[in-house]
Amino acid sequence: MRYYSTRNKVETLSFRQAVLSGLARDGGLFIPETIPQYRKAVATSLARMSFQEVAFETIQPFVTPEIPDAFLEDLVHTAYPFSAPLIQVGDRLVLELFHGPTAAFKDFGARFMARAFSYLRRGEDKPLHILVATSGDTGGAVADGFYGVEGISVTVLYPKGRVSPLQERQIAGLGGNISAIAVEGSFDDCQRLVKTAFGDKEFKKRFTLSSANSINVARLIPQAVYYAAAAGKVAAGLCDKDEEATPRVGKADGGQKFSPDSKGVIFSVPSGNFGNLTAGLYAMKLGAPIRGFIAATNINKTVPDYLESGYYEARPSFATISNAMDVGDPSNFERMISHWSLTELRNFLRGVWVSDDEIREMLGQVREQAAYFLDPHGAVAWRAVDKLFPQRQPSPLAVLATAHPAKFAETVEPLAGQVPVPPSLKKVMERDVKAKTIGAEIAALLEVL
Ligand SMILES: *Cc1c(COP(=O)(O)O)cnc(C)c1O
Repeated sequence: MRYYSTRNKVETLSFRQAVLSGLARDGGLFIPETIPQYRKAVATSLARMSFQEVAFETIQPFVTPEIPDAFLEDLVHTAYPFSAPLIQVGDRLVLELFHGPTAAFKDFGARFMARAFSYLRRGEDKPLHILVATSGDTGGAVADGFYGVEGISVTVLYPKGRVSPLQERQIAGLGGNISAIAVEGSFDDCQRLVKTAFGDKEFKKRFTLSSANSINVARLIPQAVYYAAAAGKVAAGLCDKDEEATPRVGKADGGQKFSPDSKGVIFSVPSGNFGNLTAGLYAMKLGAPIRGFIAATNINKTVPDYLESGYYEARPSFATISNAMDVGDPSNFERMISHWSLTELRNFLRGVWVSDDEIREMLGQVREQAAYFLDPHGAVAWRAVDKLFPQRQPSPLAVLATAHPAKFAETVEPLAGQVPVPPSLKKVMERDVKAKTIGAEIAALLEVL
């Protein structure tokens, strides 16, 4: 597969070049030249395949020939010892994307990207150094994804005292090839330090640097996998039983069959930078049985407004209780409109935005009515369905739950009661924090590096 920049469709690059450069030189984002199609035999048997098999079939055409099939086979097994259960909750399905080690959907992208980086750089003698600034969640997923991956070391900068104790242990509790730096300052200070370091000549001479940027195609493509796996199950009338990390109290009503539906499922996607939703559109174009999508946002509703008015207006972001979605100018929008016109998008995408009060209401209501805990991000997607279809909800319909509610206990518990903590998060809380603390100055950063 060849890739080109969203801003230059003449010059194409290999998967390796696209992944290792992250962003195109003209400032555009890399997109595949074409979106491939599943072979018929794959498209009709998604429900019978394991998650890792769906991962292999979905990712392979995007990375061939540079990642050989035998390596990819191995990769999907080491990257995904977990899957994405599709659970029945009340009147709809929930696609749980938080069964990975950091209990958020970013694990799917980060774990693939880490292994792809390592493979594509094999044989290089200088180790690759990745520098990331985080406000909380991305740092944890990147640290965990790259932990123990050969030839790569990672430094995560986070604002001291401004991440949750759980997030701090996800970032600074690993050790090994992952270093953590607590900066006495804000997230913006961390980001400024990373940018300055990238521009420093001395520093660049000493290290081969890269960013584990969220717009990297290597993070985008693996996110198509869980949509395809779930859509296959829906088409066969199947869903999964509750698993250990499923945040439900009392008796589960999951696991039973329901009427198969060949027209395909509608996914409601809690969106911020729109990487997750773009990957869903790829899964649909690959041939997974998907009818359409709901772009569910918080008050940062740039894309829902665009779908309604036809005008795209980037805005500064507002802080909300679904903070991983506080994005006023989503980067992946450029990818979406590069593949599809507004008219085309309107055929399979509806936008809805949800307020903090509505999120809070959902957290309590869904716990009350279905004994199920949503997190503030999944609650946006849940409420968006009710707002878009106040009378009769189309079926089948699946809400994406992008984080485990225990990660946002301080918001969820006052409204929904005590959230059961999954074993993976309990283990994280036992780690010691191993971070160096520095002032928010570049000299201090260069010294510890
Ligand atoms: C990153 C994130 C999102 C938003 O995903 P995008 O791909 O940026 O749209 C939603 N929920 C959670 C929990 C996240 O961490």
